[in-house]
Amino acid sequence: MRSVSIKSFVIMTMLFIIFLESIVFYNFLKHSKATINTLLIQNVQSDILHLEHYMQKNIQQKALNEIVAHIDNFIALNPVIDDIDIFDNDNNLIYDPDARNSISHQMTTQCLPVAQIANANLFKPSCYTFVTKTYNGLDPIYMHTYLYINNNYAQGLLHKEIQKYIVMFLIATVLFSLLLWSLFRYYVIHPLETLRRYAYYNDEQPPENFFIQEIESIRYSLAITFERLNKEQKKLYNLSTKDPLSGLHNRLSLIEKLNWLISRSKREKSNFAIIYLDLDNFKNINDSKGHEFGDKVLLYISEVLLNITRQNDIISRIGGDEFVIVLPEYEDENKIIEVAQRLKDILSKPFQIAHEEYEITASMGIAIYPKDGENVKSLLKNADIAMYKSKELGKNNYQFFTEEINQVVQERIKMQKIIKDALQNNHFKLYYQPKVAIATNEIVGCEALIRLIDPEQGIIPPDKFISIAEESNLVLQIGEWVIKEAVSQIKQWENTPLKNMKVSINISGVQFKDNELLHKFDTFTHNIDRAKLDVELTESVFIENFDTRLDIIKSIKAMGISLSLDDFGTGYSSLAYLKNIPFDTLKIDKSFIDKIETKDDLTFVNMIIGIADDLKLDVVAEGVETQEQLALLKELRCEQYQGYLCSKPVCAEEFEELFNKN
Ligand code: C2E
Ligand code: CA
Ligand code: CA
Repeated sequence: MRSVSIKSFVIMTMLFIIFLESIVFYNFLKHSKATINTLLIQNVQSDILHLEHYMQKNIQQKALNEIVAHIDNFIALNPVIDDIDIFDNDNNLIYDPDARNSISHQMTTQCLPVAQIANANLFKPSCYTFVTKTYNGLDPIYMHTYLYINNNYAQGLLHKEIQKYIVMFLIATVLFSLLLWSLFRYYVIHPLETLRRYAYYNDEQPPENFFIQEIESIRYSLAITFERLNKEQKKLYNLSTKDPLSGLHNRLSLIEKLNWLISRSKREKSNFAIIYLDLDNFKNINDSKGHEFGDKVLLYISEVLLNITRQNDIISRIGGDEFVIVLPEYEDENKIIEVAQRLKDILSKPFQIAHEEYEITASMGIAIYPKDGENVKSLLKNADIAMYKSKELGKNNYQFFTEEINQVVQERIKMQKIIKDALQNNHFKLYYQPKVAIATNEIVGCEALIRLIDPEQGIIPPDKFISIAEESNLVLQIGEWVIKEAVSQIKQWENTPLKNMKVSINISGVQFKDNELLHKFDTFTHNIDRAKLDVELTESVFIENFDTRLDIIKSIKAMGISLSLDDFGTGYSSLAYLKNIPFDTLKIDKSFIDKIETKDDLTFVNMIIGIADDLKLDVVAEGVETQEQLALLKELRCEQYQGYLCSKPVCAEEFEELFNKN
């Protein structure tokens, strides 16, 4: 059967009610008409009989005018009778009470005998007649009385009835229908529509408790069913995408995610990295301790992986003891190294299972999209190859798939080790480079520059290790050593000709992350005249946390230590720095001195010297190598210079010699 909407169903029902209503109305009309007719006929019939009788009886005795008055009265009292005309035998009008209905005279022949009035239809214009006999002397006279029926009267009565009916039934029906419609809408149509949407979209649950019981029970059933379906769906999804032991992503899910990442990286032209991790000697553990124990180890590893990775990283277990970690967002290779190193460190720490301590290590292979593979298969394969390489090289380590990165990484790791060794075994040394007053050619100060003296590689310059040390906290230890060493040198020179030597040390921006920096300066320098110590920093220090760092700088300055702005002209060289930070000295970067013979750089150096002059800052020109450069600087009234022209950075003893000669 064709289905219809509730709306059309209700409209059809209402139309049907109106149809029934119309039949009732039609019958009512018929019935009312008949009733009115009968009642009126009953009324008028006896009146006419009376009139007929009255006229028979009185027409001879009474004067005509008396009879006429009676007839007038009769008409006035009978609204059904419109008019009465009386004609004589010769059809002469002898009575017409108010001369109405003059046309009716022609209709006299169509009038029915009054005896038939019982069957009259008073809703149509009609006419009835009777004959009265009288005598004029002995001659009989026949008087024909015509009564004209007023059909408007019956119509009027019927209209009143219809009006009553309309008020009572039709209006009531319409109002009732409207009410019914609103109730339907509110309690049935609207809730059903809500349920329909809920069933279709399965989003937000409709409010509890609909008024109509049946609808409410549908809602309840839907809610229960959806809840069950959602649970089952989740269960199914988990079964198909999660590793049942660890709850990590399984191989299928990993491949899905990698495919997604590849398309995103293609679009955004970005990289991502995967680390293929395989536990070392896991088979032995499983064989000797049993599978149950093996599972516990795997669970422990999963937890470690979850704990040390970031929220967006994807961690999966794709085989017995094989895990893949995806780093979708990494800043550079160092970040990957950091994660791999952290994994290596944490995994190689002993852990406890059932109060017993165990140790396990892992080998890792790293591949980067798109360099090491443009699809999931090749990426995983190459990470796997890298992992095997790491196993071959002695396990408990990580390898990049790409050889160049591997070399950089290995070197970095080697350097980190050298730095750690150097810190432990005191392999660092400070070299000193003189600062020379240009006017007098006298050595008025020096810059302490660190060197790492490696037993195998010899002297390693700071460019080779400072940036690597800055990646970890090693630079803090180095910084601390430099302050201590410089202070100790100042102390040693106290009773020598170099007793007034001012020593500048370099401070890395990373050292400002050390909350102890101020405290260290304070404690390490308390036994010297702090005016002999100068701190060189570059503008890069102020890229982050300007306000806090400015506070620290000001506190250092307040201790009596002077401040130099290093490498001026290469960074942002904002004049605001010069104005807001209480520097004493400005060091013009070597790159400007190198080309000072060109017009542009000469102007620039000249301008810097001018500004420094205005701000009452000393100026040191860095990297002066030739007499020509020195001559130009002298012309520009630069105060001091530093550079190979006077001397390379040298060890303390050589520096003392140099000073004494000078
Ligand atoms: P810097 O502070 O700009 O130091 C000046 C660098 O220029 C030194 O290199 C110095 O040997 C070199 N130099 C000086 N005069 C000349 C010249 O006439 N010609 C040439 N070609 N070079 C000249 P060095 O000692 O290799 O230091 C490099 C950088 O390492 C330093 O640049 C500084 O930023 C950093 N550094 C050195 N020692 C330390 C330290 O103790 N702590 C920290 N955080 N950084 C340091
Ligand atoms: Ca410096
Ligand atoms: Ca410099």
